[in-house]
Amino acid sequence: MGALQTPAGSVDSKIELFHSRLRDVIGPAKWETWIKPLDVIRDGDTLTLEAPNRFNATWVTDNYTHQINEIASSVWPQPFEVSVTVAPQPEAVTIPVEAKPYQPTLDDHARQRIDEPLEQRDTSNLLARYSFENFVVGASNRFAHAASQAVAEQPGRHYNPLFIYAGSGLGKTHLLHAVGQHRLELSRSAVVKYVTSENFFNDFINSIRRKTMDDFKARYRKANILLVDDVQFFEGKEMVLEEFFHTFNSLYEAGNQLVISSDRSPRELKTIEDRLRSRFEWGLTTDIQSPDVETRLAILRKNAAAGEIRVPQDVLSFIAENVADNIRELEGALTRVSAFATLTHEPVTLDLATNVLRDVVKLQSAAPLTADSIISAVAQYYEIPKTDIVGGSRRQPLARQRQVAMYLCRENTGLSLPRIGAAFGGRDHTTVMHAVEKITNLLQTDKAIYDQVTAITQQLRTT
Ligand code: ADP
Ligand code: MG
Repeated sequence: MGALQTPAGSVDSKIELFHSRLRDVIGPAKWETWIKPLDVIRDGDTLTLEAPNRFNATWVTDNYTHQINEIASSVWPQPFEVSVTVAPQPEAVTIPVEAKPYQPTLDDHARQRIDEPLEQRDTSNLLARYSFENFVVGASNRFAHAASQAVAEQPGRHYNPLFIYAGSGLGKTHLLHAVGQHRLELSRSAVVKYVTSENFFNDFINSIRRKTMDDFKARYRKANILLVDDVQFFEGKEMVLEEFFHTFNSLYEAGNQLVISSDRSPRELKTIEDRLRSRFEWGLTTDIQSPDVETRLAILRKNAAAGEIRVPQDVLSFIAENVADNIRELEGALTRVSAFATLTHEPVTLDLATNVLRDVVKLQSAAPLTADSIISAVAQYYEIPKTDIVGGSRRQPLARQRQVAMYLCRENTGLSLPRIGAAFGGRDHTTVMHAVEKITNLLQTDKAIYDQVTAITQQLRTT
């Protein structure tokens, strides 16, 4: 800090005064998060506030310029300029762009599930598709996206934990994976671990049963970034909450980053004890809203560009306007339209889309379906007992029919992958993910599967 002493006191005491006045004005919590990380540099007639990252700088400029100017001119009476800058980011520039880190594929997950006991699986579990590049930014998710980028670039420093909450299908899981992948791009040796709360819970229970708690602890506490998805699942489960509390503390104290997602804000997680709930709010809490129509259209454009067949503009607009509150459904609608066109060798037109999506559009206003009602409808359609669908047999065609049922659950309920797995006799979320991916692909290549999915969907809508 290259500034001179002034008669009214040292530069440092002025800066302290500046901080304390700002703290009084904006409140201690916001001051901690946004102002404390700034380096305040007084030099000549400029006051520079150097932010640790772009996200912080933008936030301060957007929200506190007025207060900062006012307080600065009360502390340093002579007129001068205030500017907010971003500190140089050594990590991001000096680390060469390496080859993409190894990304496990769905098939890898499926194989692991078969070959290894749960507690030995220890990849970071990241899906390449859920990257920042593939994440469309709009007003509804801008803040969550920027915060996620900031923690991937500077984990454990400023916003710890990062707590992201939103309804189903709005991009929580996508962002968690993106944080992990971006971190690995910047630092290949980083230990990144993604886990659904349900798997954390199962892992915990198994570790108690098998008396391998030390391994369990080591597994989660060695992470540099721990990404915990759908934490609302912990509600009311006291033992796992206790364990998660200690995991949280251990990571936090060692300066490791936590990123947590939930379907509700910390405050609304009623049955999670206060000491953990308040920790969720220590860092930065942000929600994701339903996307506006422009964002929905941008997401569809991106998906359509990645697909094999041409989807005209008016069709994309039609889908964006009619499928409103969930990005998963939005993507599903586009998949159905292009699948139908591919299978029937017809071009994608507005007529065709209107036809294919007739019941999807209707469903938007209907009550959500339950996993059980979907399993019943699938059982009835294939004329097999419900117990077979949720049972353990891997013989065909039963295994495929089960995948169809899982796919329909993913498309038509707000249930998370682990919840769907639970409804199918306690299967792992990676199995559900694999099923969804498999049926999504088959829909475009296998007319029989397409017809079955369509028929069962229609059945579900009319009952
Ligand atoms: P959540 O975990 O909140 O239920 P997901 O992260 O699983 O939601 O998102 C549902 C689907 O929507 C995923 O396929 C995801 O890639 C996609 N998605 C969500 N948000 C965006 C976005 N902003 N841009 C592109 N795709 C998105
Ligand atoms: Mg999710």
